[in-house]
This record gives sequence, C-alpha cells and structure tokens, in this order.
Amino acid sequence: MKVQWLDDLVNIFYPEVCLGCAEPLVNQEQLICVSCLAELPKTNFHQQDNNPVSGIFTGRIPFKKATSYLFFQKKGIVQSLIHNLKYRNFPGVGKRLGRMAGAELKRSGFMNDIDCIIPIPLHNKKYRKRGYNQSEAIARGLSETSLKPIVSGNLVRITHSATQTRKSRFARWRNVEHIFGVREPATLENQHILLVDDVVTTGSTLEAAATKLLTIPGLKLSLFTLAYAP
Ligand SMILES: [Zn+2]
Repeated sequence: MKVQWLDDLVNIFYPEVCLGCAEPLVNQEQLICVSCLAELPKTNFHQQDNNPVSGIFTGRIPFKKATSYLFFQKKGIVQSLIHNLKYRNFPGVGKRLGRMAGAELKRSGFMNDIDCIIPIPLHNKKYRKRGYNQSEAIARGLSETSLKPIVSGNLVRITHSATQTRKSRFARWRNVEHIFGVREPATLENQHILLVDDVVTTGSTLEAAATKLLTIPGLKLSLFTLAYAP
C-alpha cells in the first residue's frame, strides 16, 4: 500500500537528488548516489604519519596524528557535499560520510589509542541559526562505526568568528586563546582526543581549539577533518 502523505513526509528529510552530483536518486540510494560514492576522492592520509594534513600542524601544536578523509576540489563532488552539509540543512550527509570514514579509520588501527571524539563547536548564535553543528554530525558518524564515544558541550566557542576578522592581525593572534573554552577540563585529563572539523585549509580554527585543549594536563591530541582543501 502506498501512502502519499508518508512519501511527502519522507521527502522532507531525504532529497530526491544526489547531494554530490544532483542526479535523481534511485532504488535504495540515500543522500549520495552509488556513482558518487564510488568516485569519492579519498586521501588515505591515515595510512601515513607524514601527510599533507599533519604538515599543516607540524611546528604549530603538539599532536599525535592528523588526517582528512577526502580531497576538496573546486566544483567537485566533495564541494557539493560539504555545501549541502553546511548550508542546505543536510546534517545527514556529514553523518553518512563520518560513518564511512570511521569504519576505515577503525580498520587501519588509527582509532586504537583514541579515547574520545570532540567536534569543533559552533558559536551559539550560529548554532541557533543553522539548527545543527555540521562537525558534530560528522563526529556522530565517526563515533558510530569507530565505537569511540563523542563528547560534546565540554569544548565551547566563546567568540563569534565574524568579530575576529575586523581585528588587526596582532589582536587576532592574541585572541586565539580566547576563541574556545573548556567547561570541565578535569574530565579530559590524560585523555587522547580526536578533534573533528569539516574542512581544513589553513588549520587556524583547529589550532585555536587545540591550543585551548592542550592546556589540560596530560591531554593528547589527534586531528580529523572530513575534507582537505589544499
Ligand atoms: Zn551522485
């Protein structure tokens, strides 16, 4: 029996076209079509300790490992997926890709010594506007398949990034330590944290969050982003 209103309801949550290539989805496809899934430009950076993402952070912060799952190419599938994730109300695409990444990271041993996963938080204002945190969607997917717990609400964003851009370079640098705060630092002592963000370019957001977290005694840090934009 086909129930039309149920179909309509489902269409609110699932798009009819692929979020990577905009072609119609068929059969059991959800969010991303099989051909986009097959063509995802995976970096496989997690298989090498020295990779372009770890290179971004070397000499800036002490960390254990760093990787990104996909290459971000202008006008490519990943740009479209990330755009839908961040601006078009599809947190599900982050969770889906996070699940895939988590399974691969677990299989490779990358997750072995990780204690918990922490997504980069959004400022409250931005969170309310968007309705969800895209990095948390990715982290939830990672957590599901890697079987590592996610800790959200402990690392918080204090400063709205928009106000940062108006400040001088020196003021920005001085401010870096005050962009993020930690509500209960004691609970993160001696933990190895996997810090998660959507895309890494200059690495400044991850560096700011990491700098704050690394003030906690015994804390060890690794970094993951869904995409790497060289
Ligand atoms: Zn597609």
